[in-house]
Amino acid sequence: MTLNDSVRARLKDAVGAKGFSEDANEIAPHLVEWRGKYQGQTSLLLKPRTTDEVSKILAICNETATAIVPQGGNTGLVGGQIPFYGEVLLSLSRLDRVRRVDPLDMSMVAEAGVVLAKVHEAAVEADCFFPLSIASEGSATIGGNLSTNAGGVDVLRYGSTRALVLGVEVVLADGRVLDMLRTLRKDNTGYDLKQLFIGAEGTLGVITAAALRLFPNPTTYETAFLAVRDPEAAVTLLHRLQRATGGLISAFEIIARQGLQFVLDHIPNATDPLAKPSSWYVLTEVAAAGELPLKGLVEATIQTAIEDGLVIDGVVASREAQRKALWHLRESMSEAQKFEGGSIKHDVSVPVDKIPAFLTQGIALVEKLVPGVRPVPFGHIGDGNIHFNFSVPKDGDNKAFLARWDDVSRAVHDLVRDFHGSISAEHGLGVMKRDEILRFKSETEMDVMRTLKRTLDPKNILNPGKVV
Ligand SMILES: Cc1cc2nc3c(=O)[nH]c(=O)nc-3n(C[C@H](O)[C@H](O)[C@H](O)COP(=O)(O)OP(=O)(O)OC[C@H]3O[C@@H](n4cnc5c(N)ncnc54)[C@H](O)[C@@H]3O)c2cc1C
Repeated sequence: MTLNDSVRARLKDAVGAKGFSEDANEIAPHLVEWRGKYQGQTSLLLKPRTTDEVSKILAICNETATAIVPQGGNTGLVGGQIPFYGEVLLSLSRLDRVRRVDPLDMSMVAEAGVVLAKVHEAAVEADCFFPLSIASEGSATIGGNLSTNAGGVDVLRYGSTRALVLGVEVVLADGRVLDMLRTLRKDNTGYDLKQLFIGAEGTLGVITAAALRLFPNPTTYETAFLAVRDPEAAVTLLHRLQRATGGLISAFEIIARQGLQFVLDHIPNATDPLAKPSSWYVLTEVAAAGELPLKGLVEATIQTAIEDGLVIDGVVASREAQRKALWHLRESMSEAQKFEGGSIKHDVSVPVDKIPAFLTQGIALVEKLVPGVRPVPFGHIGDGNIHFNFSVPKDGDNKAFLARWDDVSRAVHDLVRDFHGSISAEHGLGVMKRDEILRFKSETEMDVMRTLKRTLDPKNILNPGKVV
């Protein structure tokens, strides 16, 4: 796509001298995503500072049928934020103000470009808590989090982003501003329009601000790293721990030995918390605001699980530094895999009780397709969501391995369907799964999605070629 000179001039004029870049060096980092899987191109990066500027930009794009790709922190993993055909790139990073925090209403209004870690800080300053927790939170923005309906480690307790949003401010494709920044918990006045834009990956409108739900800031944590007999034991333990603590588990993550070994081998300051290796581990955290007797409840449940042979060994963090060290292991899983060559990754979910059978069958399936492959499954077993990753066989050919991505994924996704699961639990569709999803959604469901897209973006200017 070549940008017409007069459109370029009008777009630059809409944002002023500081609001755009045509410098290839400055634009370059915005064109490649975290895994290096996608490379984009554009000659114009727009960096508006206000909702009004976003509105002017979209009005011009709509009038001139100019395609535009919204981008937040560029940590998306399915290529949704990348302009592939020279579309204008719209970075929301300068819309970075926390507009207000209201501890009595337990809400915050933050602009789209506020980095998630800053949202956390602003909440804590008001003695509140915003629970969305993902390893990319130092770069990912709240606009990107909403647009991908991000998940992360605390979904089990608090829900994914969809459940954490009270209102949104969105600029529609034609430039009109849809101000729905309400902080109401109850509002049954017709369609819940905000939910349309959450998880839409920038295809239905540009989110410029969000009203977020806050929670009491946890003060008591019990964090345990446990060697478990197998994934089935992990699911049983999850069930017992939920009952014992009245549903106060905020995270329950599974880790295979191979993944932990990669972290121990490559990540600084990573140490094995347990004396002997185990095939499977669980990292779990129970948290509460206030002095609840969590320690006794958690330790008693673990003790019984040891006696029943579900848990082989384990450690419960006794200090904050130890808690952080345990989380460091989990948060380094993706990073550590990079040191071991290429990896084929899936972000899938199945019902929680089906996870053990899915892992057994899925690993056997991929091992048959690629002998010697190294399975590195980990993630949010408490939500039935596994990052079902595979690293290239030791000393294997990286390029040849990655060339198998599509046929490995096809087999894995077919298995996911057998388990009534989802082929994208938290990362979205972007370009990566845009075509693949056609095998899993009915023609009627796709038709309703396309109808929404045509209605809200009739000229197909917003992130064309993504999702639908
Ligand atoms: C190390 C690592 C760990 C991760 N862990 C998790 C995890 O645990 N859970 C999880 O869910 N994800 C995870 N992710 C994926 C990613 O961080 C999330 O999808 C995140 O929400 C993306 O935010 P972003 O600001 O980087 O968005 P971007 O990558 O910039 O954009 C993502 C999508 O949103 C659209 N978009 C961005 N901003 C806007 C806006 N203001 N309005 C409209 N559309 C917009 C883009 O067009 C694109 O389609 C991880 C990524 C990395 C690199």
